[in-house]
Amino acid sequence: MVTAKSHFYTRYSPLDGSEVGVVEFLDPAAVAGVLATARAAFTSWSQTTIESRGRVIRQAALAIESDREFLAQLVRRETGKPLQVALAEIGGAVEMGFLVASHGRHPSGYVLPSAVPGKHVRVERVPFGVALLIVTYNAPVPNYAWKIFPSLMAGNTVVLKPSPATALSANRFAKIMWAAGVPEDALQVVHGEGDVAGALLEAGPELVSFTGSYNTGQQVAEAAARVLAKTVVELGGSNPLIVCADANLDKAATTAIDSAFSNAGQRCASASRVIIEAGVYEEFRQIFLDKASKLSFGNADDVDVSTLVNAESVRNFEDYLARASEADGVITRLGTFAGNSATGHCVAQPAVIEGLDASQAIAAEEFFGPATRFFPFGSENEALDIANSSPYALTAAVWTEDVSRAERMVRTLNAGVVSINGPTHGAEINMPFGGAKNSGNGTRDAGVFSVDEYSDTRVVSTFFGV
Ligand code: NAD
Repeated sequence: MVTAKSHFYTRYSPLDGSEVGVVEFLDPAAVAGVLATARAAFTSWSQTTIESRGRVIRQAALAIESDREFLAQLVRRETGKPLQVALAEIGGAVEMGFLVASHGRHPSGYVLPSAVPGKHVRVERVPFGVALLIVTYNAPVPNYAWKIFPSLMAGNTVVLKPSPATALSANRFAKIMWAAGVPEDALQVVHGEGDVAGALLEAGPELVSFTGSYNTGQQVAEAAARVLAKTVVELGGSNPLIVCADANLDKAATTAIDSAFSNAGQRCASASRVIIEAGVYEEFRQIFLDKASKLSFGNADDVDVSTLVNAESVRNFEDYLARASEADGVITRLGTFAGNSATGHCVAQPAVIEGLDASQAIAAEEFFGPATRFFPFGSENEALDIANSSPYALTAAVWTEDVSRAERMVRTLNAGVVSINGPTHGAEINMPFGGAKNSGNGTRDAGVFSVDEYSDTRVVSTFFGV
């Protein structure tokens, strides 16, 4: 039953509480009209050639690149992240546009041999229909690009439901796409909370793609299953970075700090668990703390650790630290505040948590803020047990100079993305991203096969008469 009415929503910046802009939240009762518009647009959009859709997407990517300064400022005000970070994210989104656009000239589909004489069989890539894309705020422009570009390229029409926190950048992104030649009915942006998203799901899109938390993702997957939509879900993580005794400890510490604290820890791929061989625990700990204590945090533009997205996220983060402390975790706060403390109400101070029992649920929870947890290990198997004890399986990293050990451990780690002597984060657009267990359903975003992920197939048999 949907009863709410449309209303206006004002987004205030986590940097200083200033108004970023206003958007209209849709009346959930009006979603049928949105879906009908997308369905009507599907016929003509899906019948354009894939090459022409590629040209439009390339044009859009170029336009996003031209708009990057404005868009990055907007993202900074919406999310609080440093301008350089927002710019780098937009660069990735532009590259994703070029990668997807190139599929206009790539092989598509395949031919199968048939046992029947005089029968020719081809498998074509075809669109599903209406793609409902529900996304989070943490890297808004890449989040839009990873889903919108391949959906449209495949010939689907799109309804985007962004996070209210980044509603303005979603509008800007769509405006650029429309100016580049995507019909407005083929890409609609709908604003609202879970009630709006739920009503859109009930309206029966043919494809649903979601990036967000495990709890919401499970609800989305259930609702999508009821309408039998193809479903892509990219969810949370509690990602281990394992430091073996023979690792380059200095480099491992620098990388762990970047993986744990960049984007203020608001990353699905954040290194929120650092698992350290007992013999070098103290040495690694000291290197890590020496470096991490120099981090700046706050609402200044050039800080290492920016604000969180809103005050509620800060409360959730502090609540996690308090619960970790009650569970015998020892919290060390890090860094130096930089900015304006009178206005920086969404600031969270970075922290390291030690002493948690790895078998407790709290030791593997996702907290989505600037902290990480340390765990010592004795044997290789113990390290792997701790790493795999999380309900998530998104990313992982192993630090060792022993290539045999690294390859052995990678084979046992539960994660969709693993690096050896590298970070737990840092996806590249041509590499598929996603995980298993509570991190996802085995589908992938980005990567060279992203257009296939957002496409259906059709088998066409021609009987040429023998
Ligand atoms: P969230 O699940 O609260 O919200 C995500 C989106 O779902 C938003 O657009 C929100 O408005 C919408 N939503 C809220 N309630 C809904 C409902 N009942 N039905 C349908 N949609 C609903 O997540 P969040 O807090 O915005 O984002 C943080 C989470 O996203 C973290 O768990 C993080 O790990 C995850 N994440 C995953 C990836 C990935 O690629 N795996 C990338 C970035 C973030």
